[in-house]
Amino acid sequence: MKKFLKFLGIGVLALVLFILIKTFTFTSESIEVAQVTPIEVPDEALTRLQKAIQFKTISHSYTTPHDSVAFTGLHNFLAFAFPLTDSLLERKVIQYSLLYKWAGTDNSLKPVLLMSHLDVVPVDEGTLKDWEAPPFSGEIKNGNIYGRGTMDDKVSVLAILEAVEASLQSGLKPKRTIYLAFGHDEEIGGDQGAASVAKYLQEQGVTLECVIDEGGYVAEGMIPGLDNPLAVINVAEKGYVSFELTITTKGGHASTPTPDNTIGSLATAITKLESNQFPYKTIPVIDRQVDIIGPHLPFVQRMAFANTWLFGSKIKEALNTHTTTAPTIIKGGVKDNVIPTSASVVVNFRVMTGETTEEVLRHIIKTINDERITVKSVSNRNEPSPVSDYESGGYKIIEKTILQLLPNTIVTPGLVSGGTDTKHYQSISENAYRFFPIRVNATNLTGFHGINEHLAVSNYKEIVQFYYQLIQNLNEW
Ligand SMILES: [Zn+2]
Repeated sequence: MKKFLKFLGIGVLALVLFILIKTFTFTSESIEVAQVTPIEVPDEALTRLQKAIQFKTISHSYTTPHDSVAFTGLHNFLAFAFPLTDSLLERKVIQYSLLYKWAGTDNSLKPVLLMSHLDVVPVDEGTLKDWEAPPFSGEIKNGNIYGRGTMDDKVSVLAILEAVEASLQSGLKPKRTIYLAFGHDEEIGGDQGAASVAKYLQEQGVTLECVIDEGGYVAEGMIPGLDNPLAVINVAEKGYVSFELTITTKGGHASTPTPDNTIGSLATAITKLESNQFPYKTIPVIDRQVDIIGPHLPFVQRMAFANTWLFGSKIKEALNTHTTTAPTIIKGGVKDNVIPTSASVVVNFRVMTGETTEEVLRHIIKTINDERITVKSVSNRNEPSPVSDYESGGYKIIEKTILQLLPNTIVTPGLVSGGTDTKHYQSISENAYRFFPIRVNATNLTGFHGINEHLAVSNYKEIVQFYYQLIQNLNEW
């Protein structure tokens, strides 16, 4: 017994020592990048963003037509507001989406595509009173600009155009062709806009070096213990699918319910799905993220990040690295004293990299194990995106641009849960990077598709400076 305790003691000591050594030797290689002086962003740039916010370019659904007055109004305004871009770049209107081509001088280089979208989500009337300023006003208050599109995503349409216009003014001629694509239906899937633009480019025989879109950000105070801003360049996005589960029974009188009645059985199926979650996983990009962030954390968190073999599950949970299960719509029943003959629920899944929507379907059928329930998909079935190369020239240019302008920032690749228009460009671009330097924190996070969407004026200037510097850097690549 004594001997056993001794061995146990030595074992524990060795384990602790191992954990500590891993923690103390957990460092990150820092990239040395010289700072640059950002361009001056004139106040007129703010006026232009304000004006753009005022066009109600809302995407409701494909059964509600887009408002042609709002979209063409915005097109015309952009042409007027950015005269050099309008006259020197080739512009093509595809439905209500815009594609610009800024021809490069070196045809041997593959073009880069800068992306964003013109449409915004609607505003729930009931929440109007919770806005600091009306959602289509673009009003500036207390250093913030308010309105739909200030975060998602007219902000980057305007910032890209500001950067291109300023570059044209300075006489820049890009070596590499730069395309700008601004979709009009990203918020409902991009099936008409980005999909048609991508098809058009494909017909022209264009293959891209990379696309750079929304979908990444500079996170502030979002990771406990991390003081530095964290720039996340998302190199992959999860898949998307919604399945409707419909149960059909004989129904009956509410006075004589059977134990397996309609709504109860459907509820059981939902509970089974929620308590049998998809397992958390790690993929190389998540490992990389952990290795980059970990060394910057205080001791306890650093220890966890340095020893994911032991503490990895909590980290994976925090990073949400699994296929998520979210029941979103439920229907059933018509009268209080009648057991309905059918009821249905829609469950939305965000599919983890490496899994498929077909596997989700199989998981549902196996988990609920109820032959009375049929399962069919009621959304697009978007498989998870490929993972873009985070050692590529394109990734490095974005990283360099961030570090040139935002010195204390930590840059990491990441995986995004939401969807972007980049999926439509997969056939013509191996790499898609989702990032622009919008600062996101606990206070403004709810602005995405929510109430009081706003952006700090100072942050808008940083975003313009980022795109300007990015365009200059692209010329040295
Ligand atoms: Zn968006």
